[in-house]
Amino acid sequence: MKHESSLASAADANAAIRPSACPGLVRVVAARDGGICRLRLPGGVLRAPHARALAEAARAHASGVLELTNRANVQIRGVRAGEEAALSAALIAAGLGPDGIGAANSPAQACIADELRNVMQSPLAGLDPLAFDTTPLAAALIDMLRSEPRFAALSPKFALLLDGGERLAERAHPHDIWLAARGHDAAHADETRFALGLAGCPCDAPLGTLAARDIRATVRALLHAFLDIADNLVDNQADKHANVERMRDVPNREALLERARARAGFTLTPDEHGIDAKRSTSADAGSRLGAHALHANGSGYVGAQPALGRLDASTLHALAALAQAHGDGTLRVTPWQGLLLPNVPAQAMPGVLDALAALGLIHTRANPLARLVACAGSPGCAKSRADTKADAQRLAALLPRDEAAAQVHLSGCERSCAAAHRAPFTLLARAPQRYDLYAACTPASRDDDASGFGRLVATHLTIEAAAPLLARRPRSTTDV
Ligand code: SF4
Repeated sequence: MKHESSLASAADANAAIRPSACPGLVRVVAARDGGICRLRLPGGVLRAPHARALAEAARAHASGVLELTNRANVQIRGVRAGEEAALSAALIAAGLGPDGIGAANSPAQACIADELRNVMQSPLAGLDPLAFDTTPLAAALIDMLRSEPRFAALSPKFALLLDGGERLAERAHPHDIWLAARGHDAAHADETRFALGLAGCPCDAPLGTLAARDIRATVRALLHAFLDIADNLVDNQADKHANVERMRDVPNREALLERARARAGFTLTPDEHGIDAKRSTSADAGSRLGAHALHANGSGYVGAQPALGRLDASTLHALAALAQAHGDGTLRVTPWQGLLLPNVPAQAMPGVLDALAALGLIHTRANPLARLVACAGSPGCAKSRADTKADAQRLAALLPRDEAAAQVHLSGCERSCAAAHRAPFTLLARAPQRYDLYAACTPASRDDDASGFGRLVATHLTIEAAAPLLARRPRSTTDV
């Protein structure tokens, strides 16, 4: 009880020192359908016992509805008023918090320990024999983020990306600092170099490359330089609440690099390989679904996704059992709001696919729901102008099965919570059951056009009117 009462004050204490609307393990944020509690999962890894504990906690203290997020995390929706602290305590007791959170001296420290672990990796990190294993590096970066008191000043949204060159990776999400392996050769892993970039993604041109062994010190220097500049900018502005939370807010990144170099003495060399060079594939996001071999004996992983990223506690229990029976007892949450069962033998793959289908999960790209994403919508969010999830279900029923069709994003407002980068097509709600349709040519940052969604194609569409537009030329965003 003492631990629960301590956690009960966590959200208030934390908000005072780290204002944020981001849900966390301790910071349960109110929504229209109840509280939201978000668990950050380093590497997206969820062990079967943890999955069961999560399912039980969602049933005991919330609506039993869980969501997989586009940052490969899990969140519990519908947390009942007054049960926030009990939920957080149950999850921490089950081992779902970061190491040492139980020993945090204050609720605010518990929040910080939870929030300073935004290091995104491929769902195949450490599994793909053709890629650089970023797992130890990710652990070292998280440890560094949490061990230096100054880094507590970083926004809960501040995020790093490590791309090891895996066959499956989300490379279009923008991150504050991104690093992508270049020219990896498994026989000479020590010589692998990484491209480095700021406020973007590995689809962008990098600033240069550095050796894997220099990454930790370089990232540390960049973080200090960022905080130096953020502090100076805020101090020099009349408005002391000036918003310098993310790398994209820094006006002069060359100055930041110079400051970081002065601190760590690193040098970046020009990228010899170019984007996508020496990757075993171009990291096809379509391989997030279905059965895929990673090894010569045919063993590999099976991927699937619940419709629109939502699943219930019973389904999570069943997935944990499936992972224990046929995989290695773990699940990996993917940034496409789905999950993988790693280390499945070849002969078990057909049965696992059947079991996933029986649970109602999508495991083929041809299913229209595989290419639809939608935010919480009006039942869950007061800002939403439409019930985006229900409308997405209706849209799915009207779209053809097509493996090559482009992604469609339904957003209840301009904040675009469900898509971290611009989707090929966006339906932006104007009113209940009415949408404006946008088309984008590239998955570039949402900041580089006026709307953030691309070119406005049509307005005030019903779902029935939007469906034929999207079905007619599903591969092209320029001919709609
Ligand atoms: S995109 Fe807007 S409407 Fe949808 S969940 Fe986010 S804030 Fe709410």
